Amino acid sequence: NNEEENALSVAASVDTGAPTIFDKIIKKEIPSTVVYEDDKVLAFRDISPQAPVHIVLIPKIRDGLTQLSKADERHKDILGHLMYTTGVIAKQEGIEEGYRVVINNGPTACQSVYHLHLHILGGRQLKWPPG
Ligand code: IMP
Repeated sequence: NNEEENALSVAASVDTGAPTIFDKIIKKEIPSTVVYEDDKVLAFRDISPQAPVHIVLIPKIRDGLTQLSKADERHKDILGHLMYTTGVIAKQEGIEEGYRVVINNGPTACQSVYHLHLHILGGRQLKWPPG
């Protein structure tokens, strides 16, 4: 079935805890188009946009949050800050009328970068259910 094929095709992307490309983006070692930044989080345009507006929002310090399912008590503040900031960014991008916030958690959900991130997608009519 599709779910199994999907999981198989991304089986290489698993949580090893190794540094990710997002560390390089945070350190500005590789370029990105930053749309929002504060002391705790960074948001930049996705390199492979799935909608006219597609932004990736990440905590600047990963602190074990390779994926959402690794969250524990100490992460509650940053999780709240990330969720709140999606709205700030949506307004700034002019998509506040309708947008989607997505977290892909683990191989079966097609997570490819193991540094927690929220996708903010908008600028077109989105479909439901997602693929
Ligand atoms: P995931 O599949 O939920 O892990 O999402 C990772 C996202 O990061 C994908 O949408 C990628 O297109 C995006 N991405 C990977 N590398 C870069 C980069 O260097 N700049 C911007 N976005 C990236």
